[in-house]
Amino acid sequence: MTRPSGTCSLCEKEISRRSLMEHLESCLTKKGWQEAFDPSLVIHISPKMDSRYYLVVIARPDATFYDLDEFLKSTVGVDEDRSSRFQFNNQMYFSHMNDGYPGMNFPLHSSPLMHEKFTYLIYTQGWFPVIMEGKSMGKITRVSPGNTPITLVADSNIPKEYHQWPQRPK
Ligand SMILES: [Zn+2]
Repeated sequence: MTRPSGTCSLCEKEISRRSLMEHLESCLTKKGWQEAFDPSLVIHISPKMDSRYYLVVIARPDATFYDLDEFLKSTVGVDEDRSSRFQFNNQMYFSHMNDGYPGMNFPLHSSPLMHEKFTYLIYTQGWFPVIMEGKSMGKITRVSPGNTPITLVADSNIPKEYHQWPQRPK
């Protein structure tokens, strides 16, 4: 079996996950990402139980759970009104009001994301929920040139049948 590889979304270069952080340091500089005092978060996201397929995004220091939620829903191709949640152990952040729980208007940086894996779930109608797993790959002291809170920086080389990524588990 060959090592799963991916592609840097900024320069289209094939890259392994292992060398991604190192690659980003030089690639982001070339692409005009400025040095920043507050680091951005590098976040790895996969369909649950299937880490062959993944996305890597960089979240600006001020990005919230809402921003990541919106990005993931548009990536999966589901309506942004769908109910969803992030979960770290027993701490949950819901997209829709849920008594006793914080909403998603909460900075990623002050969250357990800094230390823990999380699951992300989108409730869908008449279909199984979309479930993903995420974790921090580290921080990077570069900030995206635009105002985009979440930027896709790498993804796995996804076979055609996974165009619905990650909505179609095996
Ligand atoms: Zn690159």
